[in-house]
Amino acid sequence: ANNEVTLAFPSRSSNEGFARAAVSCFAAQMDPTLNELEDIKTAVSEAVTNAIVHAYPDSIGQVVVKVRICPDQVLEVTVRDHGRGIPDVEKARQPMFTTGGEERSGMGFTIMESFMDRLVVRSTPGRGTTVVMRK
Ligand code: ATP
Ligand code: MG
Repeated sequence: ANNEVTLAFPSRSSNEGFARAAVSCFAAQMDPTLNELEDIKTAVSEAVTNAIVHAYPDSIGQVVVKVRICPDQVLEVTVRDHGRGIPDVEKARQPMFTTGGEERSGMGFTIMESFMDRLVVRSTPGRGTTVVMRK
């Protein structure tokens, strides 16, 4: 059956674990395998971390995570921010592309893409970013 929840929280790093756990709890009603659940948690963690680290580099802004059960047992997770946006999404999605300096490896989008079945990234510089993942 269709079902969805929306979480909204400030971009504090302590909320990353909460978002990951909340999505995992919600997804549990679909009876996923442990591997599927791990994949979803990893992908959500990457997307939320990006919103926390990159969207609002020197401020706190809102992050919205929506989880939805779609027809055919598909889980859709949307992570949205109203931060600085991404000037070139195609480039940002390349493995090892990062603007985060030495402490980042530039693998977040690559991980989301490989752990989920579908990844759509929409972004407008100065307005924010929306990441939609399906599995
Ligand atoms: P890692 O995820 O391995 O720690 P990373 O975050 O730099 O490193 P990706 O997650 O693949 O790597 O993101 C690539 C780049 O895309 C980031 O360095 C950043 O420039 C940009 N980016 C990603 N998400 C956002 C976002 N929500 N808002 C603004 N820029 C973003
Ligand atoms: Mg990242």
